Amino acid sequence: MSDHPRVEIYTKTDCPYCEKAKDLFDSKGVDYVTYNVTGDEERFEEMKERANGRETAPEVFIDDELIGGWDDTSALDATGALDEKLGIAEETDDVVEHRNLIITGTGIAALTAGIYAARSDNDPLLFEGDEPGGQLTLTSEVDNYPGFPEGINGTTLVNDMKEQAKRFGAELEHGIVASVDDGVRPFRVTLENGDVYTADAVIAASGASARTLGIPGEDELMGYGVSTCATCDGAFFRGEDMVVVGGGDAAAEEAVFLTKFAETVYLVHRRDELRAEDYWENRVREHVESGDIEVLWNTEATEIHGSPQDGVDSVDLVYHPEGHPTAKLDDAQTEERALDVGAFFVAIGHTPNTSYLEETGVELDDEGYLRTQGGHGAGQTKTDVEGIFGAGDVVDFHYQQAVTAAGMGSKAALDADEYLEGALSGATGEAEGSAEAPADD
Ligand code: NDP
Repeated sequence: MSDHPRVEIYTKTDCPYCEKAKDLFDSKGVDYVTYNVTGDEERFEEMKERANGRETAPEVFIDDELIGGWDDTSALDATGALDEKLGIAEETDDVVEHRNLIITGTGIAALTAGIYAARSDNDPLLFEGDEPGGQLTLTSEVDNYPGFPEGINGTTLVNDMKEQAKRFGAELEHGIVASVDDGVRPFRVTLENGDVYTADAVIAASGASARTLGIPGEDELMGYGVSTCATCDGAFFRGEDMVVVGGGDAAAEEAVFLTKFAETVYLVHRRDELRAEDYWENRVREHVESGDIEVLWNTEATEIHGSPQDGVDSVDLVYHPEGHPTAKLDDAQTEERALDVGAFFVAIGHTPNTSYLEETGVELDDEGYLRTQGGHGAGQTKTDVEGIFGAGDVVDFHYQQAVTAAGMGSKAALDADEYLEGALSGATGEAEGSAEAPADD
């Protein structure tokens, strides 16, 4: 018995569309039977009856289901539905490539995972999204990454890591991952352009994007006095007045951190109370009392002035006694002012790039950060889905340092390697992803 459904084609003599229909099935390697109705009254009546009275040829049937004439058959083929009916959809599937391991992102966590995974012969493919190289490329000098006594340019560090990963066989491709299907093994990884890859394991290391204000001057001066990372860039503006925007833990911590370098830190917050933990609120208060920090309550920035050559000069601010002043620009109580500052830090939160995992079994918290096993011993980067691991800022909203991201990237690659060894050796001839997870210490 054939593996394929039964295909029947009613034909006529001298019928070009009948030939097209036969050619189509020939091209798919699908067997069919033909019934020439020319001069065969009985076959003709049979065709009419099965084709709901239609009197044209060809008429195509798959497992007794009427597909129709050539137009119907070719239209079905164009959508891929014909292949599905024929049970050959997988043979013309849109899977671009299968890899042992797909890593989302090309930031520090992803690249470190790539280096380790390539050295473990796990053939990693890294997808480089909207922010190639991750957040480190938004900063100029990285002074706190071990091994560089003179500091290193963020982009240089990322590019060197890319070369290092490639040296061991990792591949990097541009592609924004839209979804991961964890209902099948191998996982199906679909890009925004529709391309589908499959992978035995996935490391989610797509980072978190710092939120920005979207005000004039912000994009143009990013890296030239505007920054989303005080720890990275604060020391470059020693002796300057600096602005930090935000009212959460990050803004409070950055404001306190910047007091080491700044003449005065202006903490600009759109309401009249911080949302930071008591600890950070108290630290801010101490610095307010000592004159290092001035909190500008109910204030928002509307424009940053300066140039890439000379950095930030000043910032335009608006104030309203009831807060959220940019929503009340026409109100009589709204006041505008300009402030001369040499640096402008945006600390209004991060958004982890994990939307592509929303439909999976990977647990995400309310903010979208993915939960990993953590703790001691092996498997710290495991998520709730066996074979999917997390590293870097998609997991870590707390430390958010290049060196901690690198550390997690290496852990994820080691965890994935352990998983893949089990999965690939245990899954011989099986499509099921039921490999044992590595045991915890
Ligand atoms: P949060 O979301 O906690 O705070 C963001 C702040 O930015 C809020 O005060 C918010 O104002 C303000 N904000 C948001 N959008 C705008 C805007 N468009 N214009 C002006 N202001 C805006 O983010 P964080 O990064 O501070 O913290 C994120 C998580 O990381 C938290 O869970 C935090 O606890 C944790 N974290 C912990 C640290 C630590 O413990 N050392 C350090 C850093 C972060 P509003 O208050 O009005 O909403």
